[in-house]
Formats: sequence, structure tokens, C-alpha cells
Amino acid sequence: MEPLLLPDRHASGIYGRGAVFEHVLDCLTIAIGGIDPSAAAEVVRFPPLVSRMTVERCGYLHYFPHLLGTVHSFTGTDREHARLVEAVDANQDWGAHQTLSDLVLTPAACYAAYPHLSGTLPADGRLLDVESWCFRQEATRAPSRMRSFRMREFVRLGQPEPVQAWRDTWMQRGLAFLTSLGLAPSIEPASDPFFGVGGRLLAVSQSEQALKFELIVDLDASTRVAVMSCNYHLEHFGEAFGIGLADGRLAHTACVGFGLERLALALLGAHGALPRQWPAGVRAVLGMA
Ligand code: AMP
Ligand code: ZN
Repeated sequence: MEPLLLPDRHASGIYGRGAVFEHVLDCLTIAIGGIDPSAAAEVVRFPPLVSRMTVERCGYLHYFPHLLGTVHSFTGTDREHARLVEAVDANQDWGAHQTLSDLVLTPAACYAAYPHLSGTLPADGRLLDVESWCFRQEATRAPSRMRSFRMREFVRLGQPEPVQAWRDTWMQRGLAFLTSLGLAPSIEPASDPFFGVGGRLLAVSQSEQALKFELIVDLDASTRVAVMSCNYHLEHFGEAFGIGLADGRLAHTACVGFGLERLALALLGAHGALPRQWPAGVRAVLGMA
């Protein structure tokens, strides 16, 4: 049988995908889009890169410097090129011969959207449907912790109460969706992997304010992973990108993010490597029937 995933031979956390894996992932993206048919979300897709300024404004370098992938490029002269090639041929670190560019690898799908939302929101706010390849410099070889993976997100912006209520409703919707996929989910308060000693305080404060919840499922008999997170950002992104309400206050934002590869791995772990033999109910939810 074809492999589900093809690990890169020289870099951990990077996988090619076989046909079965990609088929499951395609079905998942369609099914996720149908979870809340009542909501007319604005669909927008961005490339897997975002301007460096965007992540600087989000505070990503303050909070998650260890996860960011930065794009560098060669901008030198012929002479500097010779030095670059010398270093490459000698198997030396050639990073110093490159220059920081104006791009970084997108760390979370919603980030690319916020700069487009600057200004005053309509009275009932906005709802976006985004999906992107994301990169995180994860220090692990577990297939569930990839360095390059796809994240589908819904993002809600508006007044504090409806935004928080929307996030809370999605926690229940997420549970129902994962249950319909036969994945026995649980929901847990969570915090982001903030960097360093100061980061621990940020994580405690995030937990205390109940800003992040994760939906966790079995990956295999001994491992459970988060396949979805429900996040309330207060006015963090409203402030960073000048997104306001008609009454002059800053907009609040929330997002719910699905880890598509983790979901596919959990489904393949729970129901087996052959989707055509999965339970009929699960196949129906995924539009495979
Ligand atoms: P987060 O923004 O960290 O809450 O991530 C949202 C979702 O993306 C998580 O619940 C995971 O399902 C998925 N995810 C995050 N990091 C990874 C990773 N390294 N590999 C695969 N999926 C990931
Ligand atoms: Zn997000």
C-alpha cells in the first residue's frame, strides 16, 4: 500500500502526503466548511507567507520567537556570492551571507487576515473563513507535531460579548463535530507555548482568563492530541491593526482553528487506513458516502 505520509529524509517534521491522506484531508476541509451552514463567512485564502511586519505587529517575536520561520534571501554582489558558494560547498553555515527579507512563514492562518480588517467594523462585526499552510519550528519528530501543516480557521470580530459567545458556541459545535466523526473528544483549558520565563506568566494569565480551550482526541492507544483550538484574543488584534467598533472602542476577536493533518491522523488511527471501510456515519459526515 502507498505510504500515508512520506517523511523528508533530511528535515524532521516535514511530510509528503499519499493519496489516501490527501483525500481524507480534502473531505475534512469540505465537512468543516459545512459545520455552521447558517453563518455566511467571508472566505479568504492566503499564501503560506505573510509580511514580517504583520507578525511583528502581532507581537509574535515577543511571545513565540522560537517557533517563527523567517525568509532570508541573497542580496549581495558577485564577490559576496563567491563567499556564499564557498560556504555552501564547504558545508558551512551560510546564513550570514543572506539578508532578512520582508516575509516570514505564516505561523497561524488567521494572522494574514487582520491587516485587511483595519478600520471600523460593521455593526454586527465580521466573520471570516481562512485556511493556510502554517509553519512552526517545532522541536520534535512526532508526525502529529509537524513543522509545516494546514490550519483551517473561522475568525469572528466585533463587540466583546457576541465574540466571546461565538467562541463558546464553537466549543460545543466542535465537540459535536468530532463526536460525529467517532473521535470521542474532550475539551480542556489550554495556553499557548509562550517563550521563556516571562512566557510562563503569560500562559498562567491566559489560562486564568479562560482565553484558550483545546479539543483533544486519541491519536492512538497512548497519545491524545489537540485537533482544534478555540481562542478569545480580547482586543489584542484590534489594537495591533486598528480594528474598531462604531462606538469608538477597539474590536474584540476570537478564532477557532482546526489542525487538518492531526484530524486526518486521528481519523486514520480510530477507523483504520482504508477510508472505504470506515463506519457509514463517519463517511457520511465526511461526504464520502
Ligand atoms: P494553535 O494555534 O496552536 O491553537 O493551533 C491550532 C490547531 O492547529 C491545533 O489545535 C492543532 O490541531 C493544529 N496544530 C498546531 N500545531 C501543530 C503542529 N505542529 N502540527 C500539526 N498540527 C498542529
Ligand atoms: Zn487564529
